[in-house]
Amino acid sequence: MRLVDSHCHLNADRFDADVADVLEQARNTGLERILVPGWNVRSCDRALVLAGEHAWLDASVGVHPHDAAKVDDAGWQGIARAALESTVVAIGETGLDYDRVFSPIPDQLTNLRRNLRLALDTGKPAILHCRSSAGRRDGQDALLDELRAAGVGGSAWAAAFGERPPAVIHSFSGPVDYAQAVLDLGLAISFSGLVFRRGEEPSRDVASFVPPERLLVETDSPFLAPPGAPRSRNEPEWVRVTAAWVADARAVDPEALGPDLVGAYDRTFPRSRPRL
Ligand SMILES: [Zn+2]
Repeated sequence: MRLVDSHCHLNADRFDADVADVLEQARNTGLERILVPGWNVRSCDRALVLAGEHAWLDASVGVHPHDAAKVDDAGWQGIARAALESTVVAIGETGLDYDRVFSPIPDQLTNLRRNLRLALDTGKPAILHCRSSAGRRDGQDALLDELRAAGVGGSAWAAAFGERPPAVIHSFSGPVDYAQAVLDLGLAISFSGLVFRRGEEPSRDVASFVPPERLLVETDSPFLAPPGAPRSRNEPEWVRVTAAWVADARAVDPEALGPDLVGAYDRTFPRSRPRL
């Protein structure tokens, strides 16, 4: 099956020792694209190195909500410069985390706004993390407010992105009407192993109606192992489990879904350098 992993932290320390083996295994499983997102200064640097070393990998740079209060102005300026590199196809990951709140919420909001601004300025889509505590949706509702306040769906973003998604909801979590609202703003949605966890049941409905050209899958490795993957370290090859789940939710043959996933990836994350 043709596969992509739209969100895979090969830049995490846990992959330092054997990233070449992990990539070979991913290739053998059918993966054709992997996007390596940064979350702070160091991980953004590492994402750039990996995308420079492996022509089939893409990088993104930005600041995660967990690190919102930890990246200073000089660090942010470096990330904003790196965003212009040809290996960088997106901005993030950024977003809001109202579940763990490792950075105070006002700092998360300020950080989200600077990342969204960088996405608009570069024409590279924002990769958005959004989580609320179990049974709540305050993070998702706040994210929607922020997207609308930033003008997503309006003329400036349309001029920068055309028909392309201006942002991706990564590792989707939330209610059906929230998914509908982000799709109405033109966003893409990416599913991870999170969909198999208790409380994430609405994701199956959502997976059934995301337009194919805005439908992505990911592992969020080394996190969010789907059933069958080692809990200790998720790896890109396991995206096949989530892709099979998506195919089942859409009542389509997994083999037939593959070309759509690759097409959605290339449409969402176009790149200026050749893909080998
Ligand atoms: Zn992530």
